[in-house]
Amino acid sequence: MHELSLVADLFTIIEEQARQAGAKKVTKVSVSVGELSGVVPDLFRSAFQSYKKGTIADKSRLQLKMVKIKFKCRSCGREITARNIMDESFSYVCPACGSRDMELVAGRDLYLEKLEIET
Ligand SMILES: [Zn+2]
Repeated sequence: MHELSLVADLFTIIEEQARQAGAKKVTKVSVSVGELSGVVPDLFRSAFQSYKKGTIADKSRLQLKMVKIKFKCRSCGREITARNIMDESFSYVCPACGSRDMELVAGRDLYLEKLEIET
């Protein structure tokens, strides 16, 4: 399961940050999930719930924030947020200048956004 290895990676970061901050426990974990990351929120959530047992984040709540896909045009710099990449009207063409030189700037990654801790 894809989600399980992501959660394992996430906990490596959580434990590292919590240790550095001198935390006794982690109360809340906020994670940004890109729409293109391939993560299924429900699976991620349940992987998190089972993984956290016995860790510093045992009693923590998980908050998932979905991040929309965003492109930036390399020609004119315009940023475009895709409502839905599966939408038939979606294309990789800049609506401002017609360039096809588009760069994906958001929505691909999953990352730890914020930790709330008790010290
Ligand atoms: Zn453009």
